[in-house]
Amino acid sequence: MRDKNSRIIPLLPLRGLLVYPTMVLHLDVGREKSVKALEEAMVDDHMILLATQEEIHIDEPTEDQIYKVGTVAHVKQMLKLPNGTIRVLVEGISRAKIDEFIPNADFMKVRISTLFDEDEQSSESEALMRAVLRQFEQYIKLSKKITSETLSTVTDIEEPGRLADVISSHLSLKIKDKQEILEITNVNKRLEKILDILSNEKEVLELERKIGQRVKKSMEKTQKEYYLREQMKAIQKELGDKEGKTGEVEALREQMEESGVPDRIRQKIEKELERYEKMPATSAESGVIRTYIDWLLALPWSKKTEDQIDIDQAQKILDEDHYGLEKPKERVLEYLAVQKLVNKIKGPILCLVGPPGVGKTSLARSIANSLGRKFVRVSLGGVRDEAEIRGHRRTYVGAMPGRIMQGMKTAGTINPVFLLDEIDKMANDFRGDPAAALLEVLDPEQNNTFSDHYIEEPYDLSNVMFVTTANTTHTIPGPLLDRMEMIYIPGYTEVEKKHISLNYLIPKQMKEHGLGKSQLQVNEDAVVKVIRRYTRESGVRNLERQMGTICRKAAKMIVAGEKKKVMVTENTLESILGNPKYRYGLAETDHQVGVATGLAWTSVGGDILSIEVQVLPGKGKLTLTGKLGEVMKESAQAAFSYIRSKAESLGIDPQFHEKKDIHIHVPEGAIPKDGPSAGITMATALVSALSGKPVSNIVGMTGEVTLRGRVLPIGGLKEKSLAAHRAGLKTIILPKDNEKDIDEIPESVRKDLVFKPVDHMDQVLKFAIVGEK
Ligand code: ADP
Repeated sequence: MRDKNSRIIPLLPLRGLLVYPTMVLHLDVGREKSVKALEEAMVDDHMILLATQEEIHIDEPTEDQIYKVGTVAHVKQMLKLPNGTIRVLVEGISRAKIDEFIPNADFMKVRISTLFDEDEQSSESEALMRAVLRQFEQYIKLSKKITSETLSTVTDIEEPGRLADVISSHLSLKIKDKQEILEITNVNKRLEKILDILSNEKEVLELERKIGQRVKKSMEKTQKEYYLREQMKAIQKELGDKEGKTGEVEALREQMEESGVPDRIRQKIEKELERYEKMPATSAESGVIRTYIDWLLALPWSKKTEDQIDIDQAQKILDEDHYGLEKPKERVLEYLAVQKLVNKIKGPILCLVGPPGVGKTSLARSIANSLGRKFVRVSLGGVRDEAEIRGHRRTYVGAMPGRIMQGMKTAGTINPVFLLDEIDKMANDFRGDPAAALLEVLDPEQNNTFSDHYIEEPYDLSNVMFVTTANTTHTIPGPLLDRMEMIYIPGYTEVEKKHISLNYLIPKQMKEHGLGKSQLQVNEDAVVKVIRRYTRESGVRNLERQMGTICRKAAKMIVAGEKKKVMVTENTLESILGNPKYRYGLAETDHQVGVATGLAWTSVGGDILSIEVQVLPGKGKLTLTGKLGEVMKESAQAAFSYIRSKAESLGIDPQFHEKKDIHIHVPEGAIPKDGPSAGITMATALVSALSGKPVSNIVGMTGEVTLRGRVLPIGGLKEKSLAAHRAGLKTIILPKDNEKDIDEIPESVRKDLVFKPVDHMDQVLKFAIVGEK
């Protein structure tokens, strides 16, 4: 066998290419050795061995760099190309194995032996052929690189070995794989190998197709959306709806980009915008979404003002805006100093406590100015619903964010000074406890994720400096009170009010009314008269209003050409402000029997309180009128019992309670009054009425009384003294235990008053009843 098949022929090494038997194809030959091999073949019987070299880039392969199995081919045509290379047409004849290389200098020459297909023409190869064809068909469908005609030519092939060869030549396989197929002489094995390769290739193709589809799909989606959007724009334009939703949404998007919202809010807005865009502009829901988006865009999320904590500067600003108020100012400055040291506005919340019109709000505004922060004020008066703090859920009709978020929107920065006004006027009922919600706002541990029901997204309030105000601390819920540091601002004295008017209120009002210095002048006496006869208050709010009235009237006179300059004096005042509203001083011109003056403390500051007692023939009935509270009624009873027990020594008929009815009345009945501190006043009025001895009209008193006549301490002496001074009283009877509080009373008031500390009712009567020793 071997001898018969064995022969010597020239070798043409192939690069990156492999020729199977029965294949016909063109080859371009350029290498010198190859050309020589070809020429040799042409001299002989046109036969040559085509064997592939292992490495494609090697120019002169050695013997062992060439695969040992190749294809014997018949050179059918040869053509010299102008560039010196030769184009040949070859036809593969049979497989052959290189047995040895014959030494030769010019070209490669080999001894070969033909390899025959081990044909088994069995039913197995038939089955394999069918399987291969089926796979190949599917492969063609997937790959799209091979035409379907190829399939029909392949289907016609009957020899299984050839089928394997042809299919292999159509697949884009690595040379190594193709060579492997060439080397397999067992036909069934060759088919199996092809089957293997095909199913592998098919899987790869399938995967490729899937990836391709995914990419295509996502591209298609964006393209489609873009296309639809453009279409919508075009339609809106056609309809003349240039300001339509698309433009609107675009503008909102732009606004969002500019406003620098954090990513999580941006995502939220983006989602809402998408919903909004799809909704018809006329639907109610569309409006709801739009409002919501506007809110998210309007709230400050990152914008901040730079703090400038300069104590001297702050002091200057506070002084410029406010007269007096030494203690509160000092406290504010201390607070700022600490903030500067710890470099953070955190810690206790300031609560400014005092009657209306004493400058709490304007003090808070000055704090903001001195820090260079924005200022917002939200009133909590009458807030009884938690939703007013936290907002309503968006599902509510007409839902809105709570007052805190509204304030933040107004502020426009994340670190304003935020004034919560009238925190003591908050109430709670079945709609939830607003104080609890407020606690979360004020708690530095929690307020960095404050949740408003409407906004939904947590909001960081930790940069806000909260300041609160209250008229009284009694009605502030305990937990809230704990969080705050109180700064008390008592009412002003007459002298202070005069200063405030001349230096602050009048210039301010004149400026607001456009009046120059040469156009209006209010002299000091006039100011004092306004204070005494047109206002009765602890603060200066009404005073400011009266000054405003003066300015308004003056402006009218000047504009009407009646006058060039308006001078306001004590005498001309009435022509401007009308009749005085209040009597100055108690002006009980005479000492009176059965009337005593008490000093009361109310949430709007101190006030004086007349207590009248009338004794009538009767059976010892005690009547109390004037809208008195429980505590006050009880202290009237106590005073009554005390007097009964001491009647004789007080010079009163010991049987009075059997023959007389007693009526105690506190005028200004519309105003509720309560508290124990009217005790000594009631006792004094009772004694006066029963004994017929008058009470001094210049004495005011305050103190609780016990059944045995002891006098117990009271609160609010400062405010009460201011009221007494305002009312023109000269002597104040106070409990001995309150003596220490006298120091707190402003000097200007203190010097006009005589203080009589007492610890027993006997002393009270001694100072109050005229002629008593
Ligand atoms: P409150 O908040 O305590 O009710 P406001 O701050 O509204 O009082 O004050 C009322 C008016 O009185 C404001 O115009 C304020 O500027 C003025 N005012 C109050 N106290 C002073 C003061 N000490 N010096 C100057 N103006 C004052």
